[in-house]
Amino acid sequence: MRVLAVGAHPDDLEILCAGTLARFAREGHEVVMCHALNGNLGHTEIPRDELKEIRREEAKNSAAVIGAESITLDIDDLDIYVDREAKYRMIEAFRRAKPDVMLIPAPTDYMPDHTVTSEVAFDASFMATLPQLITETAAHMKLIPVYYMDTLAGLSFEPEEYVDITDTADTKREMIACHKSQAQWLKEHDNIDYVEFAMLQSAFRGMQCGVKYAEAFRLKRVWGRIPTKRYLP
Ligand SMILES: [Zn+2]
Repeated sequence: MRVLAVGAHPDDLEILCAGTLARFAREGHEVVMCHALNGNLGHTEIPRDELKEIRREEAKNSAAVIGAESITLDIDDLDIYVDREAKYRMIEAFRRAKPDVMLIPAPTDYMPDHTVTSEVAFDASFMATLPQLITETAAHMKLIPVYYMDTLAGLSFEPEEYVDITDTADTKREMIACHKSQAQWLKEHDNIDYVEFAMLQSAFRGMQCGVKYAEAFRLKRVWGRIPTKRYLP
């Protein structure tokens, strides 16, 4: 399978589903990690243009840990809207990735970049199947299952499916730690240690399903997207 995971910011996928992506990769699937926003506002001092380049490299380094491809829509932080520009960029990314399954942010997550990315990604996954809707790459004519990843701290999210990431927990830690520019920033802005934060949530989701570490998902339940087999590892 080809797996497309779309996060809002360059480190979101790592925090919410890196253990699952690591399992997909380990089981022989092709993983594409896309971040919609370039992360250019995620620091106190580093200038925006410089920061987005740093974060692009950090995302690539993280994806490389599991042999995944890292792509970006390169939209500035807090400048994504449910509009034509964002959707067409997402459609093009989707068509290039040619996914069989997709992971996207939950629509109930905590801030607009996450909620807007969620809507744009789902809309694009339908629009990308239409041959007469023209972008650089031809249509990927396949309606695929879409899973919402967990929200930050699991708030307003009732999991339906769990992935046991006990064996890939160290890989998840390693991938999060690739986002070096965020360690100090998240401490200052949000008062969190991002590795500890993510692993605590994974431990909590693990507790819910009887394993050491897990990640949680919900299927987007709409016509044409309901699978008759399990897609998640
Ligand atoms: Zn984010």
